[in-house]
Amino acid sequence: MLLASNGILVQLLVGVVTGLAVTTLANICTTVYLHRGIAHRAIRFRRPADLAFRIALWLSTGIRVRQWVAVHRKHHAHTDTPEDPHSPAVHGWWAVQRGNYRMYRRAARDAELVARYARDLPPSAFDRRVLDHALLGLGLGIAILAVLLGPIAAIVASAVHINYYLAASAAVNAIGHHFGRRPYANSATNLQWLALLTAGEGLHNNHHAAPTSAKLSHRWYEIDPGWWVVRGLTLLGLARVRLDPRRTRLAQFGG
Ligand SMILES: [Zn+2]
Ligand SMILES: [Zn+2]
Repeated sequence: MLLASNGILVQLLVGVVTGLAVTTLANICTTVYLHRGIAHRAIRFRRPADLAFRIALWLSTGIRVRQWVAVHRKHHAHTDTPEDPHSPAVHGWWAVQRGNYRMYRRAARDAELVARYARDLPPSAFDRRVLDHALLGLGLGIAILAVLLGPIAAIVASAVHINYYLAASAAVNAIGHHFGRRPYANSATNLQWLALLTAGEGLHNNHHAAPTSAKLSHRWYEIDPGWWVVRGLTLLGLARVRLDPRRTRLAQFGG
């Protein structure tokens, strides 16, 4: 009896730790690849890295790259106006925190929006045949966890991951446009605690000030874990930062 309950406890613990690890991976893929790399073209990836990011996103989030990129580019084009797909200035921060997923889905399903803002990202044959099938990716991701860890740990890991990923992504759009510091004159905010939970995304005021910078930290005391990953990929020859982050900022702010 005691042994059996210990076994369940271990599986729960393995599930929670794995769930946190999967979200960390998904957050890195989101900020480094989807956001900095593809949406803002701040980083170029070699083919193996590009494919690895796409497959990791497919298995862990089911996100279609061109949809995410289009919704995000529209957010930059119409920040905190009624045209913004998820603006706390329009709807209130709590409505965006609760409804971010619904707001994202509504915008992502708008074929005209996606065609307009992601016209540089036509779907490849591999996208159409494999990566566009979100449920297949998520199902396969859960099946891989179940084979590796057993069903209980896999279910716990999936539950932790889905809740953490959705809440943290929503927080960047909701809390990150409402609470926090605004060193630059834009409506987004910097929140270091949120940046630590989202691989750097919480430095959102910096990002809106210099969207084409691959590095989101602008001051010595700001921590951007996503930038460490970018540096690692660069050192391995798997990625190249298109614009020098410092020069990007200097150009925009005159030093
Ligand atoms: Zn924003
Ligand atoms: Zn952005």
